[in-house]
Order: sequence, then structure tokens, then C-alpha cells
Amino acid sequence: MQIFLVTIMMIDVGTMSLMVSAASILQSITLVFLFFLASQNQGVGIYALGTVLSALGFLIFPLRLLLANLLDPILLLNLRFLGNLLMTSGQIMYTIGIAKFLNKKLNYLILLAVSSTFLFTQIYYVYIKDDYLSRNLITILSITIIHLLAFYYLIVNIDRSILGSSIFTALTFIIQIIFSLSRVVIVPMTNTKSFMQPNSINIITFWSIFLFDYLRNSGFMMMVNQRLHQDLRTLATTDFLTKALNRRAIEKYLHHEIGRFERSKTPFSLILIDVDKFKLINDNYGHNCGDIVLQNLVNTLKQSLRSQDLVSRWGGEEFLILLPNTHLESAFLIAERLRITVAENPVGEEKIYYTISLGVATFEKAYINSLTSFFIALDQALYQAKANGRNQVVVVPKLTKFID
Ligand code: GH3
Ligand code: MG
Ligand code: MG
Repeated sequence: MQIFLVTIMMIDVGTMSLMVSAASILQSITLVFLFFLASQNQGVGIYALGTVLSALGFLIFPLRLLLANLLDPILLLNLRFLGNLLMTSGQIMYTIGIAKFLNKKLNYLILLAVSSTFLFTQIYYVYIKDDYLSRNLITILSITIIHLLAFYYLIVNIDRSILGSSIFTALTFIIQIIFSLSRVVIVPMTNTKSFMQPNSINIITFWSIFLFDYLRNSGFMMMVNQRLHQDLRTLATTDFLTKALNRRAIEKYLHHEIGRFERSKTPFSLILIDVDKFKLINDNYGHNCGDIVLQNLVNTLKQSLRSQDLVSRWGGEEFLILLPNTHLESAFLIAERLRITVAENPVGEEKIYYTISLGVATFEKAYINSLTSFFIALDQALYQAKANGRNQVVVVPKLTKFID
């Protein structure tokens, strides 16, 4: 352990800064690639820009060391200013990128206040009064506020579809904040006159930046990957027009429910819905209005159902609802409620009134080996509802009642 600690402390600050810069620039390549892959997701490009700015900032530190005896002192001061500016702008870009990616409302007031305070105090403490401790304090406090803001965007109203990677990224921010604040406390106790001074506190700081910058950038890339994966899944399982589940997705859930029924006799029911005289709506109001009616229907259905109930587009203007853990009696009442809600709520500015017909069935043992007969029965119930005059619910009688 001791040897390990001695070894990692052997590295000099210039090399360390170069490592931070190289890691940043390497990760920016992956991020630019992700930017093209996920261009519909905002913020990835801004975050990538952050890694480039940060990389340039950390490249300037060793450059200053290298050119210390060659350059004009004013030029060296300019380099110092530019380095700090690039590094801090990089951190601001990370926070903006994360907020945009998560569709969070950016708090421009805080960002503006922090960046202008940083800018003016940096100018003062670089050019007017050369004071390292004040520069160190201001840079760290500015970056800490920016990091806290990113942490806030990541954690508040957390996006559940990218939960793991968001928490991971948030944690890297918190650890960086802890390291930064400890530096604020420790540096004044030591004889540190520059970030480039080869002492333990600087080397530890560089190691922490190297590790946690790397992990944080990886965390953000994981967030983008998780989002892309989620987008693909949504695309593969939802109907484009109505955002209801598509047929393939509902069939998967259906087989899952049948499995549950077989294992633990958990009942489930289906409601098959068909819009009445939908062709007339298209003919009278146009195809676009027809589309809006379908979208509206799905929203109404979703709003009227429990969160575990699933609404799918079975085809054209037919929708299939899966009601887990629901007996026939309740399914009938739910179907009636849906029918009334739809009939009572006209759509759009034209106030288009429309109705639906519904077939209801509950799953039974006899259907296990013949799912087709279950659907034939359900279809027939819907057909019956149409034949009876539409805007009504017809139930498939339970088979077991006759067997018992
Ligand atoms: P019924 O009461 O017997 O169900 O009469 P209907 O007019 O609803 O039945 P029909 O099957 O004759 O017509 C269904 C219409 O739904 C025909 C088709 O053009 C329309 N349709 C199917 N999918 C869409 C869609 O995505 N958007 C729109 N606007 N119309 C659609
Ligand atoms: Mg139809
Ligand atoms: Mg119809």
C-alpha cells in the first residue's frame, strides 16, 4: 500500500496535467461520435465542447512550465489567465450539456453570476494583484457552484429511464466537490504558491481531477448510451401515431400474463375497441382530423385506466387493452366507463363527437392451448356490439360457468 502511494505520488504535476488533457481529448472523440449518433438528443455536442475546452486548459499548465524561462512575463500571465478560463468554461459546458440533455430549464442567472464573478476576480488576481490563494479560492468556488448545479440537474426529478448512469455521474460530481472543498481548506495551510508547484496537495488534486473527470465523462457517455437504447426500445414497442404500445409489444405482455395465469391463477382481461363509423370521420373532417381522434382516444383511455393497464394499437382504428389482475365483472365496468367517457368528450376545435364499441373477455384455462379461440371470442363480442347498434359493450360469457 505504502509503495503504491509512493509510486502514484512520484509523477510530476506537468505530466499529470498532460494526462488530464489527453484523457479529456480522447473522450471528446467518443463524445463527438455519440453526438452524431444521438443528434436528436440536445446537449451532447455542448458536453463534447466542454471536454475540448477543458483539454486545452490542462494543456496550458505544462506549457507554462515548459516556457517559463522563454516567454515574456506578460505572455505567461496571459497563458495563466487563458488556462483558467478554458478550464472553467469546460466545466460550465458540462453543466449546460447535462441540463440540455435532461431537458432541464437552465438557471442562466446562476451561471451568469458565477462566470462574471469568476472572470472579473481572475482578471484582478492575475493582472493587478498576483495572489495565488485568492485565485485558487475563486476558481474552486466557481467550479464547485457549477458542479453543484450539474448535480442538481442530475438528481432532481431524476429521469428513471437512465437512472443508473445519472446516479453514477451525480456521484462523480459530489466526489469532485468534496476534493475541491478540501483543497480550499488545505492549500492555505501549506506553502503552495502555484497549481504547478510539485507538492503532495497539487499531485493529489491532479490525480482526483484525472480520475473523476474520466469517470464523470464516462458517466455522461453511459447516460447517452442508455438514452439511445431506451429510444430504440420505445421505437420498437410503440405505435408512431398514437404512442400506444404496438401489436408486437402487447403480444409480449400478453404471453407474460398467460404465464402468470398458469403459475398463480392471477386473472387478467382484455378489452378490444373499435371506433364507430370512423370512415365517416375521415370522410367528413379529413384524414388529419381522423389521426387526431385516434391520438385523443389513446390519451383518454390512458387517463381513465390504472398505471398497470396497457393500451395498444391492434390495427387501424382498433385498440386492445390488457387489464392485469382483473376479473370479468370489473373489466366490464371499466369498459362501460371508457365507452361513456369517450362518447361524452368531443375532440378538437370542431368538437367532433364519436363513439366506440367494445368487446370484453377474461382469460381462462381452456384458452391456454388455443389463444386463437380467445381472440375469436373477443372479436365476436366486438362484432356483436357493432351489430347491436354500436356505442356499447359486449362481454364474452365465461366458459367455466358452464363446465362447473
Ligand atoms: P365501424 O363502425 O363498422 O367500425 O365503421 P368504420 O367506418 O369505423 O369501419 P371501417 O373498417 O370501414 O373503416 C375504418 C377506417 O379507419 C378506414 C381507414 O381508412 C381508417 N384508418 C385506419 N387507420 C387509420 C389512421 O391511422 N388514420 C386515419 N385517419 N384513419 C385510419
Ligand atoms: Mg375496424
Ligand atoms: Mg370502426
